[in-house]
Amino acid sequence: MQKGEKILDVIARRSSGFEVEEDELRYLFRKKYKAVTRVINEIALTITETKDSSLYCKMCGAGGFTKRGMYQHLTRKHGKEILKIMKEARGLIDLSVKLNLDFRIVSAVVEKRNGKYLCKLCGREIARNGLYRHLTAKHERELEEETFRFKHR
Ligand SMILES: [Zn+2]
Ligand SMILES: [Zn+2]
Repeated sequence: MQKGEKILDVIARRSSGFEVEEDELRYLFRKKYKAVTRVINEIALTITETKDSSLYCKMCGAGGFTKRGMYQHLTRKHGKEILKIMKEARGLIDLSVKLNLDFRIVSAVVEKRNGKYLCKLCGREIARNGLYRHLTAKHERELEEETFRFKHR
């Protein structure tokens, strides 16, 4: 399997309710695996749901699947979309690692839209490589407040 396929496999398994070993994630994502794991868990919640003990696809509404059926549906029908979601998330993962902040805090203040990053704190569009500087230079206090709120929620 190529790396993209492995990433898809891991996301589809988690989204279908199968076990994903921490070691697998560590091997795939190295130093970033903790942040990536949170993102994968969030993606899983976004793309599938359980109703009356069967699984449904939130991307197209298909259901009710068994775990295996859900896995097959996701990998066959939505592989590209899932990898795209993951790819967009990874820009923010890198940023959260650099800022040493939880991914969820970073995704609360930065949004990726049509391939561009938007600072939700001031509404400005920022180039990817300018985000770190922008956030630390302009929004240090807001980031602290956001972190405080996050920890006490
Ligand atoms: Zn679907
Ligand atoms: Zn800003």
